[in-house]
Amino acid sequence: MEQSLPRFLADVMLGRLARWLRIFGYDTAYLHRSEDDFLIYLILEDPKRTLLTRDVELATTPLLADNKAFLVKSTNLAEQIEELRTAFSIAPRKPAMCAHCNRRLVTVEKERVVDAVPQYILLNRDSFWRCPLCERVYWEGTHQEGMNRFLGYNIWGEA
Ligand SMILES: [Zn+2]
Repeated sequence: MEQSLPRFLADVMLGRLARWLRIFGYDTAYLHRSEDDFLIYLILEDPKRTLLTRDVELATTPLLADNKAFLVKSTNLAEQIEELRTAFSIAPRKPAMCAHCNRRLVTVEKERVVDAVPQYILLNRDSFWRCPLCERVYWEGTHQEGMNRFLGYNIWGEA
């Protein structure tokens, strides 16, 4: 199933969008580098990924023809997500990817996150996930709930 999901490489302008795509469960590479040649190289090496960029010139370069790049038009995060919804039919799915390292989260028992999670969260949540790389703990809801309502999504919060 994961094989059929779109995968992305976000350019340096799209860090926030990249984090949200990960929280939505989509493999989204993001590097703090912006050289066009380098991004083009990465996409050609990894053809299952689509480059997300706000750079018209980069998006329309002949090397990235055949939908290898997608031009993100808006600077507004919610509108950007809407653009991705329209173009790639993205929808929040579980488990998410870690917003920081782009690793697929794994389910973790509540008893095992007691030291990593605030008391009020432990009392109010039952499902927890951990990043296998950075070990950040995630649960549903939390401080991003305002954004969830705004978008009409039930997505994940972040530790
Ligand atoms: Zn992580």
